[in-house]
Amino acid sequence: MTFPLQRPRRLRRTEAIRSMVRETRLSTRGFIYPMFVGPGSGVRVEIGSMPGVYQQSPDQLVEECREVEGLGIPGVMLFGIPEHKDERGTEASSATGVVQRAIEGIRRAKLSLIVITDVCLCEYTSHGHCGVIENGDVANDPTLGILAEEALSHARAGADIVAPSDMMDGRVGAIRRALDASSFSHIPIFSYAAKYCSGFYGPFREAAQSAPQFGDRRSYQMDPANAREALREVALDLEEGADIIMVKPALAYLDVIRQVREHFNVPVGAYNVSGEYAMVKAAVRNGWLDEQRVVLEILTGIQRAGAEIVLTYHAKDVARWLKAC
Ligand SMILES: [Zn+2]
Repeated sequence: MTFPLQRPRRLRRTEAIRSMVRETRLSTRGFIYPMFVGPGSGVRVEIGSMPGVYQQSPDQLVEECREVEGLGIPGVMLFGIPEHKDERGTEASSATGVVQRAIEGIRRAKLSLIVITDVCLCEYTSHGHCGVIENGDVANDPTLGILAEEALSHARAGADIVAPSDMMDGRVGAIRRALDASSFSHIPIFSYAAKYCSGFYGPFREAAQSAPQFGDRRSYQMDPANAREALREVALDLEEGADIIMVKPALAYLDVIRQVREHFNVPVGAYNVSGEYAMVKAAVRNGWLDEQRVVLEILTGIQRAGAEIVLTYHAKDVARWLKAC
């Protein structure tokens, strides 16, 4: 019962038919737009390796959030670049920190965007690691309380969801307990459960000024070669109380997204990271790729792999393109 009885091309004959049988319908409803907030006011500096993405002060960020909401993108992820860095990342939990001020600005502007905050220390520590340093190593347990404090300060400022990205063991549980103990049991945790030690974070480190000053992150972020370990990380985070889980980066890890989607009944997010964005932008600038075509293909691929939530710097462009068609 194959050819000539079976002819798959019948269902590809017109755009109307192709559209009717399409399996994955790319939508901005699951998009999250990552943003970088720094000190001051009236500051808006484009990040060299990420054209169209800015490091900006809270007042400017609120203006861009207005635009994001107007485009129908449901949420933003905030990363802070503090005025001062120190050994323990003290500013991460400051009530007057850059992220806290940005959240308050978004709340004052009465925007209905979902405000998600990245909870980590690497942007705030002088050494650029995601935890505190003891005996020349990133110390797991002493970091947990600091992360919980940071998450709590984001919730107090008005964050809707907190997203720990540090990859310390036990941090989801520590954050959950801290939130619950302070009447924030309604705040979900969006855990970067399977975060790989990836070369694709390069441009982000420029954006967040968070490159490690010594060593690398291999002792806490995951080995790119491992997929079964990702399932273990996700299972542990869910046991500790994570509500949504994330795979990061996306493109070299589509198989991990698919496996996580098939093994767990929770919402799955994927982070289309800075290096993935920068590669597309660089090729487009050289005239080597058709931007709209490849970006839609990449994001469709990430959703097809099983991510219903996609964090992407392309979000605003895609929202404009989808509106136009
Ligand atoms: Zn970090």
